[in-house]
Amino acid sequence: MKTSEIRQKYLDFFASKGHQIVSSSSLVPWEDPTLLFTNAGMNQFKDVFLGFDKRPYSRATTSQKCVRAGGKHNDLENVGYTARHHTFFEMLGNFSFGDYFKRDAIHYAWEFLTGKDWLALPKEKLMVTVYATDDEAFEIWNKEIGIPADKIVRIGDNKGAAYASDNFWTMGDTGPCGPCTEIFYDHGDHIWGGPPGSPEEDGDRFIEIWNNVFMQFNRDESGTLHPLPKPSVDTGMGLERISAVMQGVHANYEIDLFQALLKAAARETGIAFSMDEPSLKVIADHIRACSFLIADGVIPSNDGRGYVLRRIIRRAIRHGYKLGQKGLFFHKLVADLAAEMGDAYPELRMKQAEVEDALKQEEIKFAETLDKGMGLLESALKDGKALDGATVFKLYDTYGFPVDLTADIGRERGIEVDLAGFEVEMNAQRERARAASSFKMTGNVDYSGADTCFEGYSQHSTDARVLALYKDN
Ligand code: ATP
Ligand code: MG
Ligand code: MG
Ligand code: MG
Repeated sequence: MKTSEIRQKYLDFFASKGHQIVSSSSLVPWEDPTLLFTNAGMNQFKDVFLGFDKRPYSRATTSQKCVRAGGKHNDLENVGYTARHHTFFEMLGNFSFGDYFKRDAIHYAWEFLTGKDWLALPKEKLMVTVYATDDEAFEIWNKEIGIPADKIVRIGDNKGAAYASDNFWTMGDTGPCGPCTEIFYDHGDHIWGGPPGSPEEDGDRFIEIWNNVFMQFNRDESGTLHPLPKPSVDTGMGLERISAVMQGVHANYEIDLFQALLKAAARETGIAFSMDEPSLKVIADHIRACSFLIADGVIPSNDGRGYVLRRIIRRAIRHGYKLGQKGLFFHKLVADLAAEMGDAYPELRMKQAEVEDALKQEEIKFAETLDKGMGLLESALKDGKALDGATVFKLYDTYGFPVDLTADIGRERGIEVDLAGFEVEMNAQRERARAASSFKMTGNVDYSGADTCFEGYSQHSTDARVLALYKDN
């Protein structure tokens, strides 16, 4: 079953259960400064869940464009290395606004996954998790659906629902929240990884395909949970992950849609096509994120959303460089993407020229310093010692290497990168900028550039996680 058919089948299924099919919203959240990019299907319905907005329907279904490359959810460093993470992906979702709750949500999910008219997946390949104390969900899975108790894993910290945990979803410190139930697919014991909750869980054998969130409580300032008068449902299933399952392959990159993009990436970088080349995966992943972000109005820049976009573009270009492509290539993949996904997302065709142009400009800009920066980096890496903060800073400041790009290279070579040292340099530069700006108070020159630039990094990068990656590798 092709990816596009699965998307359609999902929407058809939930339409047949009385859901309104709603279009994907933009990747740039509308009037929501707290969110970097749209990262879940529920984002566009946030106010409906909170009761601030009313819709003419109480059930909806979508296939939502999502980007997780910064902010609370950041999967950037996973891309190319895990079987299941992208920066851009499509999230299939069904939503109940005070209409149905746990029982119907679980039955719908099961019917869609295993029903013979729908995906008809073998039941024994599926396992589920519930929140530690959610006996209600446990009973529905066990007694009504018939999943054996040993295939239902309770996950949570057992400190009570007031504590956030993996299977307890919260919108913020206060507000609607509730337990989740997640559905996993077992790709087989030839693949490393253990069931959810086990120490090996972060392998890729059991892959989470679908999360069902039950908005059951409202949390007040003191942390007390009050049952909502009309509880709601919010679900999300990664289209690429369920496509991999349906197409009998393990990694998302093996699905039809990605095969075309990987081949295009091989063609444009001038290497032989291979499924074992992480750089091709990174490029195929990043062309989607970059093109969709630009089509939704984000422009590469030095702060905020634009800086996250710039980081992704530069990362892709650097992976092309690594494969030996030192000329402009990235923008040439937009046409392949439009051919692959333009039917579902017409904006890709409508804005193709604009997207190509923006990417090409970025390529030209970065090409000017990439070679020099790589030269500096190579000589600094030669001794095999940790990369010092001053060099990381120089790469960032002079050659336009976003820190996570430098970190990515360090990780490939197994060399530690001194991010704390980088911060020290960065703070010193901020001080200099501040001094300069108070000195020039009366002029029209804005010296806040450095600060703004840094904000892009500190807000949206995962310095702690990058650091952790080093320690693990
Ligand atoms: P994981 O634990 O695998 O990182 P998650 O628990 O962070 O996933 P959710 O926030 O529950 O994911 O999102 C709902 C669904 O969206 C997931 O079950 C998965 O199918 C899909 N999904 C989440 N993150 C990604 C990603 N980076 N790339 C592709 N699909 C994703
Ligand atoms: Mg995740
Ligand atoms: Mg998860
Ligand atoms: Mg999840």
